[in-house]
Formats: sequence, structure tokens, C-alpha cells
Amino acid sequence: MRGFGFREHGGLDRLEFVDLPDPIPGPGEVRVAVRAAAFNRLDRFTLAGIPGVPVERPHALGSDGAGVVDSVGEGGPSLAAGTKVLLNPGLWDGTCEACRAGREALCRNYRIVGEHTQGTAAPYVVVPSASVHPLPERLSFEDGAAVPLVFETAWRALVTVGEVAPGDRVAIVGAGGGVPTAALQVAKLRGATVVVASRSTAKEAKVRALGADGFVTFDDEHPLDKVLWQWSEKRGIDVVFDSVGAPTLPRSVRALARAGRVVVVGATAGPNVEFDVRTLFWRQASIRGSTMAGAREFEDVLAHLAAGRLAPVVDSVTPFERAPEAFRRFDDPDLFGKIVLRVP
Ligand SMILES: [Zn+2]
Repeated sequence: MRGFGFREHGGLDRLEFVDLPDPIPGPGEVRVAVRAAAFNRLDRFTLAGIPGVPVERPHALGSDGAGVVDSVGEGGPSLAAGTKVLLNPGLWDGTCEACRAGREALCRNYRIVGEHTQGTAAPYVVVPSASVHPLPERLSFEDGAAVPLVFETAWRALVTVGEVAPGDRVAIVGAGGGVPTAALQVAKLRGATVVVASRSTAKEAKVRALGADGFVTFDDEHPLDKVLWQWSEKRGIDVVFDSVGAPTLPRSVRALARAGRVVVVGATAGPNVEFDVRTLFWRQASIRGSTMAGAREFEDVLAHLAAGRLAPVVDSVTPFERAPEAFRRFDDPDLFGKIVLRVP
């Protein structure tokens, strides 16, 4: 089969269509005929090469996918061929201490489809049968592919780790990516008052249409903490959702209210940060890390999607043949939501 990914690690010039063997589902596994896949920033890191994560090459990218059940491995569940499904990209061993305690996100052997295994940007993908879930009826394949990674990440970060409660003031740093657009919806669903902080006003209308109560812009002259402090009428922010890293994290900390939390889910703009730790103990604030999610959190997301309380945000749907062009949209300042690939 012909997948989209890379043969050699590197930059965008390494992206190519690659020949891969048709995968065969083993015991307890399902082969899904992919109808739509979606990209995440993670794909860029996988392309570049993540230290300590060996990748089978050639490699198909893509953690997110929706499609139909094609075949089931020996001893697998009785899933009828043709059943419409979406995939949970999180893989855990089910046997370690964390998994046995129902905390799969903390699995010692946590892996991600498309990073540690062959991805969804291909006609077929094989995953454990527990990783496929019925596609909610209201969603197309393209919508379904736009859901999994960003919504489970936002859900765990804000609900489980950030403990967002009704009435909390929540700030989402960043306006256009898949994760911030999911986080905004999750925070609203939890009853928070949500402000989105962006470097430009370009996406304000779209963000407000998704439910944001407030919108602020920041730059060197109007630092993030100052504009958030002002927006909150000097009460501070209860939970800041920060996936940017170095340029914003110290300011996110300074924007906190007493007992506030910064939840860090990524560092897309750099990992090394310096800040005044006195802010932490004086305000009794905390910085918490979160990544991906476990079984229960994923099911919670699906239930809200099925009920229409959360909705995928699709930036663009591109035919498989134009996958390299779709992937480059990450660098487009107009990006809003998920980059989806229609797979033939
Ligand atoms: Zn485990």
C-alpha cells in the first residue's frame, strides 16, 4: 500500500509517499480501512526524529484516523466489517501498575499511533481492538478524524489535571491550532469563563463563535500576564492552558490567581524557561504537566461529541494525493483547527 510519511528523518523536504506492506491484524487487533486522517504537531516531531523513539521506516505519519473495520485478527471481538469507527491514538500495555489502577495515561509503556507505530496516513492501519470506537452518527469521517488527539489532550489537561470547575477563569494561550480550539470548548463545557490570548486579532471572530467569553492580544509591549490581569479585573486566572512553552510560560505563571494552575501540554516554541519561583509559593500556585489521556477520558470526549456538546474544528480537507501541501498548512498563519486528509 502507499502511505504518506518519510523514509529518512528531517525537515519538510523529507516528506514523501512511501510503499509499505499491507498490514495484517494479529490476535486482538483490527485492521481499519482509513477514510480520513488528520495531522498534529506531533507529526512534525516524528518526522524530525524524537530522541529515544525508534521508528520503523519507511514510516506513515498520522495519529488521528476514522474509517471502517476491514478485518479482525484471530480471537478478536466480533466487529462487523464495514462498521464505521474512529481511532484512539493512545496505546497502553494494560498491565503496569498505572494501567491496573485505571490511569492509562500514566502507563510506563504509553505509545502513540503514528509516532511509535505506523500511522493513519495510509489506506490501512492496524490497531488493538480496544482502540476502535464507533464513529458518532452525527460525524463524517473527516470530522471524526479531527477529534481524537486534540480533544483527549484538552480533556485530560483541563478536567483531570487542571481541575477546571464551574466559574473558574480559564485562559487559553493560542487561538488557531487544533489543541487550543478543543481546549476552549472543553473549558466552556466545564462551566468556566474563558479568555483566549493571541498575538493577533485575526482569529477573534472565529474564537468567539466557538464560545470564548473574552479575547486578548499580547506582544512585547503588552505582555501576556498584564493583558490577562487586566481582563480578569486584577483577580488573576485560575487555569492557564499553555502549549507554547518558552515565550509564554513565565508570563502564564505571573497571570495566575491564588491557587491557580498552569497546565503545560506542549512547548511548540521552545522548552527552556526561566521564571521567578516566588510567584509559585506566594500565590500557592502550581505548574502541572499533561499529555494524551486514558480510556475513561477518551470515552467522556466521545459521549460529549455524540451529544453535540463538543464539535471538531476542521481547518481544511485535502485529498491524499496533495498530502505534502496539507502538511505545510501548519506554517500558515490562517490555520484554524485540524488539517484533515481524505484517504481513498
Ligand atoms: Zn500500562
